[in-house]
Order: sequence, then structure tokens, then C-alpha cells
Amino acid sequence: MSSDQQETTTTVDGSGTTTMRATTAATTTTTTFSSQRLRINPNNEHRPESYEDLKLDFPSAVYSSLEKYLPQQILVSTRDDKVKFMTDIMLRHLPHGERSRAQRHSVYRQKIITNYQPLHKELYTLAPMQCFVPSFIKAINESSEKSFRSIISEPSPGVFVFDMLQPSFCEMMLAEVENFEKWVGETKFRIMRPNTMNKYGAVLDDFGLDSMLDKLMESFIRPMTKVFFSDVGGATLDSHHGFVVEYGKDRDLDLGFHVDDSEVTLNVCLGNQFVGGELFFRGTRCERHVNTTTKPDEIYDYSHVPGQAVLHRGRHRHGARATTSGHRVNMLLWCRSSVFRELKSHQKEFSSWCGECFCEKKEEKGRALDALRQKLVKAVSAPQA
Ligand SMILES: [Zn+2]
Repeated sequence: MSSDQQETTTTVDGSGTTTMRATTAATTTTTTFSSQRLRINPNNEHRPESYEDLKLDFPSAVYSSLEKYLPQQILVSTRDDKVKFMTDIMLRHLPHGERSRAQRHSVYRQKIITNYQPLHKELYTLAPMQCFVPSFIKAINESSEKSFRSIISEPSPGVFVFDMLQPSFCEMMLAEVENFEKWVGETKFRIMRPNTMNKYGAVLDDFGLDSMLDKLMESFIRPMTKVFFSDVGGATLDSHHGFVVEYGKDRDLDLGFHVDDSEVTLNVCLGNQFVGGELFFRGTRCERHVNTTTKPDEIYDYSHVPGQAVLHRGRHRHGARATTSGHRVNMLLWCRSSVFRELKSHQKEFSSWCGECFCEKKEEKGRALDALRQKLVKAVSAPQA
């Protein structure tokens, strides 16, 4: 047994959790104050507007998904009115601490966006041909399990590996990340790091890449997660936390054993030259079973290749070994589903995707079968009256 299996699994929380909670609040808010009431039954005929071009307090996808719940008089009003109405409701339904945190974060983000000069503006809009390798684009265009399987390997259950990014795109992203760090150093601006475990790296959403990453999730990742991760809300991913992490000398060394605050995580290596840094996977677990032992067939180690992506459930326990030399930068996209989180909060049954729940369920079935068998044997062998 390797030492990482005995450690307690940490749940890594990102600084983007406000986004997630806001999403949850939005979907569960069906009744509210009398002056600001949403429809209980959504208007499914309504085609929502796009809010991607606006700087908003919450992710643009949340506005689009909430729109069909708007009362008729707001629904026919201007986009600005709709934004104001929905923002008011979301802010009102967040607990006070959370609300001021959301507002502070919005001010923080605005400060970066107005002061930071992007190095490669073309990164900020998603141009598939410049960004992805042709095999990936082809598979997404066909969008079938067969086409995905033709470019993906699944070296361990629930871990999907495929070539995704063009080398030139990786280079541009690396240069942009370097530019972030340079700007942070020069301006002494205190940025929030990606999560509670990484001391280096940056939140891409805070640097203006949020709508690009929204597009990446909606048009390129969700078609795949819909097929491979439907059991954890893969079809309904609606918000994300996007960031880069940096490993090596003067950066983070390794990353302890943990689970992500996501339904599905996309992890792409951007480069550059490095030794070590392997990802180790140790089985998927629900909250109740997060610290249970690893089964031999759940042990899998993956070595990063620049441009290559790994897709896995957030609850798939993992960590990163030390990057012993060079400099490694990875881009991560934690994809979340407010629908899945809402449903999960009501669920008392076994989780279909947890390795331990699966075993417990099997054992329970076995016990029930044994009991039935014994009952039958007893009935048959009982002396006849
Ligand atoms: Zn479980």
C-alpha cells in the first residue's frame, strides 16, 4: 500500500465557490417576496437571451437558465431590466456573508480586468481551429459515443485521456500565465490563488477568461460528459471554476490526496519541460466513503503530456506527485451542475458512482438473497403436517 492511500482525503475548495452557491440559489428560488416573485412553473416556450457579453455578478449561464422563471412583465422588458431583476433576487437569497463576499469578488474581478493588459487577446475568444487538434474537433462535431471513443482512451474506469490542445495554443497560454505573474509582481496586486491547496497559479475567470471557458464547457466538454458522466450531472453542467496551477522550483511542489469541488474535472497540461508531477488516482467515493481504503484495481498513475487532457469525476480521489525539475503548468476546469447538487441533497440511497457504495449495495443484495434462500430451504425441509 502506498503512503498516499493512508492519508485523509481533503475536499479542495476553490475561491470560485460563490459562483456555485449562486447557481444553486438561483435554481431553487421559485417563490420570493411579493414584489419580486418568480414563476413557479417555468415558461419552457421562452428562448432565453445571451448574457455572455456583459460583466455580471453571477455567471452568464445562470441568467440564461433563470430567465424562463421571470414573471411575464419582466420577461418582455429590456435585457438590462431582466439583469437587474435577477441580480436582485440572487443577492437577496444568498446569506448575508455570502452576499457581501459575492459583491467583493465582483469588485475584485473588475479591478483586474480594468488594469490587466492581455498579452494574447485571441485567447479570450474561443477559436476552435486555433485551439484544438483536428481529431478532437472532428469527434465533437460528430458527437457520438463512437466518435468520442475513437479519440479517447480509458486507462482506468472513469479516467478519460485524449489529445486536445494545439501546441501553439499551449504556448500562448503559457506566455499569458507568465504575463499574469509579471503583472502581479509589478503591481503588487494581491490575487486570490485557485483553491485552498495551491499557493501558485491564477484563476482564469478573474482574468477575463470566464466567457471563453463557459463556451469551452458548454460546446466541447458537456457533449462528452453527457455520454460518460451522466450519473454525476454530466448533461447539466452549468457553471465552472477555471484556473491554472504551476509546479516546480519556486512554485508548488506537489498536491496532496484530495477530491475536487466539481462534478467533472478537466485537467490539461500546457507544458513546458518537466520531470515528475504524475497524477495518481485512487477510486471514486461519495462524502460518506471518502476515506475508505483503495482497491487494487482502483490504483492508476498518469504521466502528463503537454496538450493532452484528462477528464474525471470530481469525486475521483487523486493527487499530484512532486514535479522534481523544470516547470509544469496545467489548466483546470472544475465543471459543476446545480441540478445535480440539488438532487444530491435529497438523495439518501447509495451513489451509483461511488466504489464503496457499489460494494455495499452488492453485499446487501447478497445478504437478501441468502436470507431468501435460507427461508426457502426451511420451508421445503420443514416436516409436513
Ligand atoms: Zn459511497
